[in-house]
Amino acid sequence: MGNEELTELKGVGPALKDKLAKLSINKQSDLLFLLPTRYEDRTKLKKIGALIPEEEALIEGRVLLCSIVYRGRRMMLVQLSDDTGMLAMRFFTFSKFQAKNLSRDTVVRCYGKTRKTSSGIEMIHPQYQVIDPENPPPLSKRLTPVYPTTKGLSQTKLRQIVSANLKEQLKHTEEILPDAIIAEMGLGSLRDALSKIHSPLPSEVNNKDKFELLRRLVAEELIANQLALRQIKKRTQSNPALALSDSRVMKKFIQNLPFKLTGSQKRVTGEIEKDLAEPIPMMRLLQGDVGSGKTVIAASAMAIASASGSQSVLMAPTELLAEQHKSNLDGWFEPLGIKVVILKSKLPKKQKDLILEQIKNGEALIIIGTHALFQTQVEYRNLGLVIVDEQHRFGVDQRLSLVNKSKSHGTVPHQLIMTATPIPRTLAMTAYGDLDTSILDELPKGRGSIKTIVIPDSKRDEVIKKIDKETEKGRQAYWVCPLIEESEELNYEAAETTFEKLKLSRHLEQDIEIDLVHGRLKPEEKSQTMVDFKNNIIQILVATTVIEVGVDVPNATIMVIENAERLGLSQLHQLRGRVGRGSHESLCILIYKGPLNELAKERLGVIRKSVDGFYISEKDLQLRGPGELLGTRQKGLIGLKIADISRDAHMLPYINKLCADFENKYPGKAEKLIKRWVGEQIIYRNV
Ligand code: ADP
Ligand code: MG
Repeated sequence: MGNEELTELKGVGPALKDKLAKLSINKQSDLLFLLPTRYEDRTKLKKIGALIPEEEALIEGRVLLCSIVYRGRRMMLVQLSDDTGMLAMRFFTFSKFQAKNLSRDTVVRCYGKTRKTSSGIEMIHPQYQVIDPENPPPLSKRLTPVYPTTKGLSQTKLRQIVSANLKEQLKHTEEILPDAIIAEMGLGSLRDALSKIHSPLPSEVNNKDKFELLRRLVAEELIANQLALRQIKKRTQSNPALALSDSRVMKKFIQNLPFKLTGSQKRVTGEIEKDLAEPIPMMRLLQGDVGSGKTVIAASAMAIASASGSQSVLMAPTELLAEQHKSNLDGWFEPLGIKVVILKSKLPKKQKDLILEQIKNGEALIIIGTHALFQTQVEYRNLGLVIVDEQHRFGVDQRLSLVNKSKSHGTVPHQLIMTATPIPRTLAMTAYGDLDTSILDELPKGRGSIKTIVIPDSKRDEVIKKIDKETEKGRQAYWVCPLIEESEELNYEAAETTFEKLKLSRHLEQDIEIDLVHGRLKPEEKSQTMVDFKNNIIQILVATTVIEVGVDVPNATIMVIENAERLGLSQLHQLRGRVGRGSHESLCILIYKGPLNELAKERLGVIRKSVDGFYISEKDLQLRGPGELLGTRQKGLIGLKIADISRDAHMLPYINKLCADFENKYPGKAEKLIKRWVGEQIIYRNV
């Protein structure tokens, strides 16, 4: 490969280099893999008279009038005409020089999006060039790519940089995929795909060729992704782990439980027991639908670790959940004489120091906390096991940094990642391909069923009647108000309003206690409210989505979810999973604000008809795409640039198999592919 320094390119200085870095372009060859999101067609001229509103078009016209006017603000209006009609170009930012250049009878070629106004068709800030009508520049034969860009970097500039270097970069582009694989998968050459993707002929994008070009790149990317995950596993497992094989404590622990383990719980504890006994770090993903009993599995693994005198860490996504775990684990481990501590962000210094000391000297064998906790350095005596609970949003990157942080005395702890959102197999392969998988596919016996109904928000009174009926029987209810997911502020207001309304509601008898829990409460207040709800001091709990994961109150039998049409299927399933945990029948009421579009109807239908988390997540993936399922914050989680897991899933089983002996068969190639598509930082960080 040639010189890779970006600033060596013409027109790229340090400032531009920083902007390119925001697009993950750090070296010259990265420019090739910045793929267009769409194309503009500037291959044909359109007559002004034939323009329709809201279309992008290339036109030529003669300037009739260029004027600078004030209509609320200063703007430049340029009237153009050809022999078929008139069009206005409108600019809000412009220079004197521009105005001067657009004098009467100047001919311009311009590209923009049309829009209809009361005085005709116009384009706002079109791109234009002044041309010589006697000798017009030739029209482009190829489509113009539109790249994803970033603030302060214009499309034109970006396009220039990419196109100016395309030829040169293509020359250096190595075909890394072995010929055999290219042939077997029926792929074309990489160079051809790249050169066409950046600068296609109109005919190449309008038919299935585009998919063929993409397929070439997608296949290579997915192969690189799978190889990277294998690499991570290999590197992590090249470190030793403590072999934890003393299961006496676990047997005792299980005997003490107030229930019998389900068949799948037994199977999974067996799988974990086997992993832990090896001096190789366990890397296991436990998938289990809401309520399938993952906590007990985690605890049994920690029991084994404790028996060998090893420390375990249990990470929860919220303090609320951490508290709940603490109270469960205290109940289970105190009788066995095993000390459980919880490390919270806002502890009085003295108390915190004491806990940190107990962790350091090994007195605390089980340590509970939130993810945030592990961002700070905690010193362990001998950490043997790390469990991440309810975390379907935990990226490869975070997992690696976790391993790094928790390395102690030359060993890497065993890792168990527990997720409540069942992940479709294809997505699991890409996001968690480095983990072995255990599945809890059975709910504990004796659970009441959950009925789900969907009703419009105009029928609120009915909901309140249903709640009355349940509370009369001594049951409890959740009322979740996730008005707008991304704004905790508005969530809070929505919950507050509902809370006030419910309190005023005539239907509800006075001896019913209603309370409110949301993200703005102090952690202590939150957990106090939850404890009160668990102890049935509160009967109706109005909440934002803070209760989404993990909260366990078997006596709650009604779950009301407002604005259900706005929530993702997996999230609805999670919320609904808060009820149906005891032996009573439960009811989930989805309230929507109508009218519903087809997609919303279909989605609510899925939830109404099914309580199978795996089925629901497959549907979620189909209807919304992987970014949503894994959480918007972490779209880049699996680091895929162009592959789309739902669209391209069919390639994965084959690719997965292919990668199993890729390195043996084609030594040296895996590194190159990983470097090209995944980057070096993830893989080669010191694990
Ligand atoms: P999740 O998988 O959603 O984390 P939990 O671990 O919170 O589920 O378990 C849900 C409830 O089921 C808890 O009250 C737990 O004590 C109970 N539970 C777990 N396993 C069993 C079992 N085998 N039989 C009966 N109840 C169980
Ligand atoms: Mg749980």
